Amino acid sequence: MNYEERVNGVANSGIKVLMYHKITDDKKLWRSHWTYVSAEQFAKHLALLDSWGFTPITFNDYLLYKKGEINLPKKSVIITFDDGYEGVYNIAFPKLKEFGWNAVLFVLGDRVIKSDFWDKKIGLSESRLLNQEQVIQMYEAGFEIGSHSMRHSNLVSVPLRIARYEIIQSKENLQSLLKSRVRSFCYPYGLTNTTVKNLVEECGYDLACGVYTGPPKFWEDRYDIRRITIKNSTNSFSFGIKMLAPFEYYEWIGSRVKRSVRHTLKKNQPQKEYITAATTDGTYLHA
Ligand SMILES: [Zn+2]
Repeated sequence: MNYEERVNGVANSGIKVLMYHKITDDKKLWRSHWTYVSAEQFAKHLALLDSWGFTPITFNDYLLYKKGEINLPKKSVIITFDDGYEGVYNIAFPKLKEFGWNAVLFVLGDRVIKSDFWDKKIGLSESRLLNQEQVIQMYEAGFEIGSHSMRHSNLVSVPLRIARYEIIQSKENLQSLLKSRVRSFCYPYGLTNTTVKNLVEECGYDLACGVYTGPPKFWEDRYDIRRITIKNSTNSFSFGIKMLAPFEYYEWIGSRVKRSVRHTLKKNQPQKEYITAATTDGTYLHA
C-alpha cells in the first residue's frame, strides 16, 4: 500500500465490484434463472457485508477519492444492479437504506422501454423496469445512475454508428432526466472490445463495467472493470468466498487457462482478439 492509499485508508486493488440483476420475493421466479436473487438472500448478503466491516460506495465516490476530495471507508465495496428492474426499487433500495448505503444502478437510456424484452428472447418471463420517477428517487437518495446503452444492444456486433448512438444518446437522455452528469457505463451482456471501449471514453464517460473481460485488479482498466457475479446460487458460503478470498483473481486465472487450452486445441485456426462472454461455469453470460 503506498502513502496515498494509507492516508486515505483504502487499498485500491482491494475494492470488489458486485453485479446483481433482479431481486425478487417470488420463490418460483427466484429458482428459475441465475439472474434472480431472492429478497431473503439479498438481505443476508447485506448483513454479511456489515458483519465483515464492508461499506458500499459508488464509482462517483471513488472518483472523488482519486481527486483527493474525500476519504473512503477502509473496506469499501461497490454494489451494482444491471438493467434497472422494479425489484431493485421495491426490495433492494429500502434494504440498503436501512444500513444507510448506496449502490450503482445501470439503466437504459431509452426510457420508453418498460420491460426486459431481451430476457424474453431466452425464454424468461418479462420483468418490469423502473419508471422515471423511481430512477430519480433513487438518484436523489444517493444512488449513482449509469448507462446500460439505449436498448440493451450487443455493442460489439452492431455497426459502429449504432454503437456510438447507443453510448452517447443514453448518456444525454439520462443526464437530461437527472439534471446531472452521468459518468459510468455498463456493457450489455458484458460484451466489449477495444473499439467499444474507445467509443465509451470518447463519449465522455469516466469508466465502464464489463463482467469477465477486465483485469482482476480494480481500476487497472477503468473502461473494463471486472465484476463478481452474484447469482441465485450465491448462498452465504459462496458469498464469503467471493468477498473474503481473491475470487476475481481465481476467475481471471481460470479464464487464462481456458483460453490457453482453447488456443492449443485450435492453434491452426484464427483466434478471436477477445474472450467476451466466457463464464467460469460455462453458462451463457447475460449482463
Ligand atoms: Zn443487461
